[in-house]
Amino acid sequence: MNLKPAACKNPPCRLCGFNRYEVFLEDAACANEKKYCIIQCKKCAFISVHPLPDHESLKEHYDSSYWKGPQQKESPYMQHFFSFRVKSIVYELTKHISRKGKILDLGAGDGAWVHLLRRKGFEAWGIDPFSIPSKTDYLIQGTLHSAEFGDSSFDAITCFHVLEHLDDPLNELKEALRILKPGGIMIVEVPNISSWGFSLFKKNWQPLHIPAHVNHFTPETLRQVFQTAGDVTLLKLSHFSAKTSPAAFVLSFLPGLTPQNVRRKFDGKYPFHYKTAYLALQMVSLPYIVPGILAQRGCIIRGYFRKL
Ligand SMILES: [Zn+2]
Repeated sequence: MNLKPAACKNPPCRLCGFNRYEVFLEDAACANEKKYCIIQCKKCAFISVHPLPDHESLKEHYDSSYWKGPQQKESPYMQHFFSFRVKSIVYELTKHISRKGKILDLGAGDGAWVHLLRRKGFEAWGIDPFSIPSKTDYLIQGTLHSAEFGDSSFDAITCFHVLEHLDDPLNELKEALRILKPGGIMIVEVPNISSWGFSLFKKNWQPLHIPAHVNHFTPETLRQVFQTAGDVTLLKLSHFSAKTSPAAFVLSFLPGLTPQNVRRKFDGKYPFHYKTAYLALQMVSLPYIVPGILAQRGCIIRGYFRKL
């Protein structure tokens, strides 16, 4: 279907700059009295949200309930649980860089991943424009461009569920590859719009997350955005995250259990019975998400790229 001219006034594609689209999903969501649709570039097949939400709407979205409260972050039980869920990523990192390697987490959020990497012995840094202000100098509130890191500053860069939020993911990746050492690795995770989860849930697929998610990747467009940004080679793609995959399935059925929604309802807290129900449902969902993962149509894409 061709876009009506009134619906789309020449927004250049965020990946290739072309300005002709097809509608991928009409009336995908309404937020702040605005309607959004999802469009697909006719040249490079990149999928994005139209129109782009303004910065004020996004600021409202990343309020203090977006991140976990400090008491939850410090709980030893939650630290162990988080450590278990990201074990495979730590293992991949140790295959490629030394335990003393310098890592930057782009879009560090509440800093949980950076703290964990530091406990493992890495020199980890985090940066995020919407993070909670931190007393530690290694969690920077800012953007990659404002931080002005030197060329080849890091052995590895991690970037989990960030690229889908950015107005200009290509420019951000170019900057990330500039500050990554040659031979360094970048691990990126984004939702997979070519997943069976999206085919099943469509507008109710939780990782659509409109208006916060403005870009939607497939394995092909993720590879393409990296290859356009710099000299990289793809080491591996995977389609399962112990932290995200079961949660995306459960929240597509029951959006009321989304941690941000629950924290908004209970003054920043996540009551024990909610947490228990949420985790139990995630366990129950596992058999339903395995076929998609095996068919490489899981709800996330995690790419491991090496800078040449
Ligand atoms: Zn394009």
